[in-house]
Amino acid sequence: MVISIREARERFAGNTAFSEAPRMETIGILGDGQLGRLLSLAAGKRGYDTIILGPTPDSPAGLISKEQIVAAYDERKALDALAGKCKRITYEFENVPAGSVRYLEDRGAHVFPSSNILEMAQDRVREKAALEEHGIPVTKFAKVDSHMELQKALKEIGCPAVLKTTRDGYDGHGQIVIRNPDAAGNDFELHRNKKENNGKTFILEKMVDFQMEISVIVARNENGQTCTFPVAENEHRDNILHMTIVPARISPEAAQRAQEMAVRFAEEVRLVGLLCIEMFYTKDGKILGNEIAPRTHNSGHWSIHGSEVSQFDQQFRALLNERLEPVRYKPSAMINILGEGNGNFLSGQIKVRKMEGIGLCMYGKAEAKKGRKMGHVTASAVTIEEAIERAKIARNELRWER
Ligand code: AMP
Repeated sequence: MVISIREARERFAGNTAFSEAPRMETIGILGDGQLGRLLSLAAGKRGYDTIILGPTPDSPAGLISKEQIVAAYDERKALDALAGKCKRITYEFENVPAGSVRYLEDRGAHVFPSSNILEMAQDRVREKAALEEHGIPVTKFAKVDSHMELQKALKEIGCPAVLKTTRDGYDGHGQIVIRNPDAAGNDFELHRNKKENNGKTFILEKMVDFQMEISVIVARNENGQTCTFPVAENEHRDNILHMTIVPARISPEAAQRAQEMAVRFAEEVRLVGLLCIEMFYTKDGKILGNEIAPRTHNSGHWSIHGSEVSQFDQQFRALLNERLEPVRYKPSAMINILGEGNGNFLSGQIKVRKMEGIGLCMYGKAEAKKGRKMGHVTASAVTIEEAIERAKIARNELRWER
């Protein structure tokens, strides 16, 4: 009699005589978007299954995993079901309620990165303080929740400054620039009264005069082994990542400094898993930390095509406490493919897939709403310049059509 591996697992599940039989674990993922999808693919490649918990039916991650528990992230029954099926759990975006992660930890699940790190990443004031505490300088900042605090902060920080909500902000949402101290009170009031900012708290940050935005992805396993990806150079358009270039065009000394900062941070916060630190490289050569994303990151997508080990492979290795792979890579450029709200069919894909040194990755989203991340294209080449040029040519071949 021949039965499939999946059937065998189902049959033997709960049967103590077989409970010690070697079998692959199922990894739990909170979050049903493209990062969960790409991690599921990395897991699947090695014979592991994933179970997704997220609110979207037919989600990018759910479509290609063993199962999706379609539920809100704070639904206890859903969390119980996930913890019942998976010993190791991770999350693919940082706005998963920290309370849910703590609940899973209390139930005995191993969640990577831990709820402490997630909580740190969810609050910009805590995040900036943590970056500083662990050796990564940051721009001047202050918590501002009243007009008095705003005036005090402006005196210390000066203009221009960026006013951000302390929580739930992404891709520039929830932030405004304050340029004129005399109008600051009014700007603050208007920003605070926006419907989406109702009840939110705020942080004021000195605007950084940066030369470049960079990021470093670092992985660490339970044995304490760490590994970084090369520093990525990030170009944003309308506050959304447009292109990542690897390695960043900064001096080797600055790149080493950025990577060492990330490793020290990972070690000191006892990271298990993978995280990305977004940084500014200032015009006078300083490196300032901006944000922590305790998960894989858009600025690491180039590694699927341009590196022997992708950020998803590395995340997976870290989760399973496997040996982390050294990152051997080619100069690469990744350009995001955003929806434009004028058609859901991306033409030119066949042509692009035939191009030399090009990797095209689509996320399986049905509707290409304006600004929605639908996929990305990566070019790898001998030089950075060539990779950038090729990525642009490939991107130009792709068009949204009805
Ligand atoms: P964030 O949500 O903190 O990642 O900010 C989104 C984008 O706004 C960043 O990628 C920067 O381009 C810009 N930005 C945020 N904070 C600052 C700052 N303090 N100084 C200059 N630019 C900033």
